Amino acid sequence: MIRTRFAPSPNGALHLGHAYAAIVAHDLARRGSGEFLLRIEDIDGPRSRPEFVCEFLADLEWLGLPWDNDVSFQSRRFADYEDAAERLKAMDVLYPCTCTRAEIAAAATAAGPEGPIYPGTCREKNRDPGGAAWRLDVSKALAFTGPLEWTDEIAGVRNARPDLLGDVVLVRKELPASYHLAATLDDAKDGITVVTRGQDLFTATHVHRLLQELLGLPVPVWHHHPLLVEPDGRKLAKRRGSPSLADRRRAGEDGRAIADDLRLGRFPAGISLSSA
Ligand code: GLU
Repeated sequence: MIRTRFAPSPNGALHLGHAYAAIVAHDLARRGSGEFLLRIEDIDGPRSRPEFVCEFLADLEWLGLPWDNDVSFQSRRFADYEDAAERLKAMDVLYPCTCTRAEIAAAATAAGPEGPIYPGTCREKNRDPGGAAWRLDVSKALAFTGPLEWTDEIAGVRNARPDLLGDVVLVRKELPASYHLAATLDDAKDGITVVTRGQDLFTATHVHRLLQELLGLPVPVWHHHPLLVEPDGRKLAKRRGSPSLADRRRAGEDGRAIADDLRLGRFPAGISLSSA
């Protein structure tokens, strides 16, 4: 049975781009008589605000996108993240890192989609100084797993290239997991069979595939969908004036009609789908 999820982070209101992402996940599940789950990615301490969660639920109902089962919250799954991090440490594929952003920016010689590629400064330091972040040693991990593949429903079969993101942080200084570790573990725990998300996260999937292999997790199929973009090609963002779904809901607009317009590719003036 197909099972998808929508996984918003409650650090800002949802806008039309999120509605599009939720529709992709919801409709894929419904077309396959499967389940559509809602997961709140609220590990980001002070940036996560509970009031947004209530708005998200109301937004999805208003759009006509009911979810199955109970809503899950990443903030209640810290023990799972800690367990997985301990397993990875025992496999010796994580190393502690105390570099600051400024140090990384100064030493980096290459940039990836998430910013400078970590130059490996702390890779050979094997002592845990306490309070450090922990990074994945990608070469060591790949030596362990061998070459890997993953399948995107749109882009086809890909060779996993986690090196494109470098030695990403898996355990943050102040949190038991980064996005990469938490999302990978949660998709496995929730039994997600098709991971839908925007094309902007395509490269992250290379890392997630590697984590699945290291941790013995099931391997889903991915569906990286195009993003709604502004005329300059940048994705919609609240800070650049895209009205929030909550504002439109409160103004009395018809959410189901908005969802149907998005399904039919009828976007507001100046908004289109990204091509890459
Ligand atoms: N929480 C992420 C976001 O709001 C979604 C990540 C995912 O779907 O894997 O962009």
